[in-house]
Amino acid sequence: MNRPIKPGESDEDRMERSRRVGWIDLDRIGKSRTLVIGAGALGNEVVKNLVLSGFEDITIVDMDRVVLSNLNRCLFFREEDAKRRSFKATALADMAQRMNAACRVSGMVMKVQDLDEGVFRSSDVVLGCLDNIAARLHVNAHCCHLGRPLIDGGTLSTSGKVQVVIPPDSPCLQCSMNRTHYRALERRFSCTGSDTTFFEPKLAAEITTTSVIAAIQVREAIKVLSGREDRCLHHLLRYDGLDNQALELEVPLDPDCGLHRRQ
Ligand SMILES: [Zn+2]
Repeated sequence: MNRPIKPGESDEDRMERSRRVGWIDLDRIGKSRTLVIGAGALGNEVVKNLVLSGFEDITIVDMDRVVLSNLNRCLFFREEDAKRRSFKATALADMAQRMNAACRVSGMVMKVQDLDEGVFRSSDVVLGCLDNIAARLHVNAHCCHLGRPLIDGGTLSTSGKVQVVIPPDSPCLQCSMNRTHYRALERRFSCTGSDTTFFEPKLAAEITTTSVIAAIQVREAIKVLSGREDRCLHHLLRYDGLDNQALELEVPLDPDCGLHRRQ
């Protein structure tokens, strides 16, 4: 007869294996407040990684609703969400909350441009999981103004990028913008009389690239909150999943940027 396997003391602690990493400050991570902007594919993966990594106070902001074509890359969305057109922010928050009862995961259904500055102010770290430049620049400006670390991610097909902005000294997203970005920004908005119509092309997206980029984002957040900013990305990481390449590209601080004046 097989002897029952008894769990040891170390198996009764949810974060025991993470503690063994040594440099991760789980106490500070558990007490920190994290703001996730965007509840799409990156937002799903980022929130999953945050909860599993011991982050216990997470706020998610997104105005969109779930559709069936989200389901190739969004862990927490179900067919029922697509049928009901559930809001992404609350559907994601509800499912993530179920992973750990000790967590407080809340969803705010709104445009990030309408988000009260106090939400940024009360956050220790901000994770950008957005799909457009205008919203990225808005979040970047708030984080730079308030001195909050921003870890921005993005994907396109099997490529992605991560940029870590630690104000006031890091180059920010605005510093790394070029003319191509500004043309894309102009294309997104086309005014038609009193209304604004959004030009939103459907872009290639799949889960394996999303997973890689979200994992890098959350690992950088862990470093920031563990006092290991010295080991964070200093520039822009570009990842190419087709050719298995990851390059850190230098982003110079733009002296004309205007977001780096010391508070
Ligand atoms: Zn800048």
